[in-house]
Amino acid sequence: MNRIEHIIAGQKTKGSSGKTQAVYNPATGEQTGEVVMGGEAEINLAVEAAKAAFSTWSITSPARRARMMIALHGVMNARRDEIAQTISAEHGKTHDDGLGEVTRALEVVEFAAGIPSHLQGDFSRDVGPGIDTCAERQPLGVVAGITPFNFPSMVPLWMIPMAIACGNTFVLKPSERDPSSANLILDLLREAGIPDGVVNVVHGGKPTVDAVLDHKDIQAVSFVGSTPIAEYVYTRGCAAGKRVQALGGAKNHMIIMPDADLDLAADALMGAGFGSAGERCMAISVAVPVGEETADRLVEKLTPRVAALKIGPSSDEMAEMGPVITAEARDRINKCIDAGEREGAKVLVDGRNLKLQGYENGFWVGGTLLDGVTKDMSVYQNEIFGPVLSVLRAKEYHEAVDLINAHEYGNGTAIFTRDGDAARDFTNRIQVGMVGVNVPIPVPVAYHSFGGWKRSIFGAHGIYGPEAVHFYTRLKTVTTRWPTGIRSGAQFTFPSMG
Ligand code: NAD
Repeated sequence: MNRIEHIIAGQKTKGSSGKTQAVYNPATGEQTGEVVMGGEAEINLAVEAAKAAFSTWSITSPARRARMMIALHGVMNARRDEIAQTISAEHGKTHDDGLGEVTRALEVVEFAAGIPSHLQGDFSRDVGPGIDTCAERQPLGVVAGITPFNFPSMVPLWMIPMAIACGNTFVLKPSERDPSSANLILDLLREAGIPDGVVNVVHGGKPTVDAVLDHKDIQAVSFVGSTPIAEYVYTRGCAAGKRVQALGGAKNHMIIMPDADLDLAADALMGAGFGSAGERCMAISVAVPVGEETADRLVEKLTPRVAALKIGPSSDEMAEMGPVITAEARDRINKCIDAGEREGAKVLVDGRNLKLQGYENGFWVGGTLLDGVTKDMSVYQNEIFGPVLSVLRAKEYHEAVDLINAHEYGNGTAIFTRDGDAARDFTNRIQVGMVGVNVPIPVPVAYHSFGGWKRSIFGAHGIYGPEAVHFYTRLKTVTTRWPTGIRSGAQFTFPSMG
């Protein structure tokens, strides 16, 4: 049985809690490993290791750190299949989808390799007589990341390259449900020449997270996960005086206008609704066709395609989606569908009780299509995080916009249309952080930043990109005068340089 241990200062350790949690292959339902569950003692050790590493890492030149990012890029590229396999073995997503995750992580490493220019300061000469001012960005110290199960490699790598390229050292608390990817990342960092202790991994659950949030020497916390935990992490972390960015859950709508290319829209909904079994924070979970005719035509196109989804383990090259993460997730998603049906939604394609030959104990939910969903239904209000697409019919465009703007989440959204006017109005008025026009999953590239609005984010900064440089550094402004021999005596009025 594979035992997944913490990695602190480059050393694997089982820690002192004595607690472990089972790790599964979601396609077979078999336990494949156990992860050690840390707590305060392990977080204390990891922070000590990160503090020790910070003293030299923070004064390593940005150019040298950049070269290590370039090396990391090479190492990740060379081992991309292995990374994707590690993801799929515990998460269940298809191999191609795992490779896609690696590609998006590589983009962040590329951006981090430009850190010397991202950290460039500002300089103003002669702000006063013989006085110059320079503004620079300095690292914070030890920072931490707490990450979800659905992107076990990409989300840690949204954080780590930017945090350490900025000169910080890092403690990662990955998801306990698919923890092996985090340990593989440490292997890759080491191969790229990044010194031990710059990044440390402590596995665990709530007690481990609480130890991160309360630790006085952790300066900042990046969190990605569900909204209730994001809010908790933000509140407790801020109360402990930390800088916190906490990205939460989502309910992403796609408006389909009457003039849209419906084949294009149906393709988009299939990929964005069911890719990765709907376990993406940018998955489209609500289709909002405008007008009854658009809705009828769209549903007619979607129904046979959802019913024909190819579902299988990651080893099946033909599979379009895999299992969900755990038996609990499967049961929860099935209950959400039950509730939708009870509340009056029409179950056009029913993914409950899917069994796959040879994989009878896997955590399967088939593609599910619900029509006639209304905004008072729980299936609409709550994030399901599974392969369930709801169709909510809107009479006209403004009703669709108002619906999205009224939802508590504001992570991603899209409009499919050929009308530039409607698209422009949509991008302007929609209360959502990441918006697509004929693009169903508008995840920003790594040189922009990622982040939703409303209860999809807590804290001021998006993740990766330019916002990450601001999040992981603090501004220092140095005002300098070299004595010129002119003495103006003591001044008791507030200094003015004019
Ligand atoms: P989760 O909130 O259950 O777990 C996230 C992290 O929090 C994990 O490391 C977990 O160990 C920890 N955690 C869980 N319960 C906790 C508790 N009670 N106290 C303290 N820490 C706790 O999320 P998940 O199920 O792993 O991931 C899916 C969720 O993440 C979805 O809601 C999805 O929308 C969201 N997500 C958001 C984004 C984004 O960028 N906005 C990206 C990916 C996933």
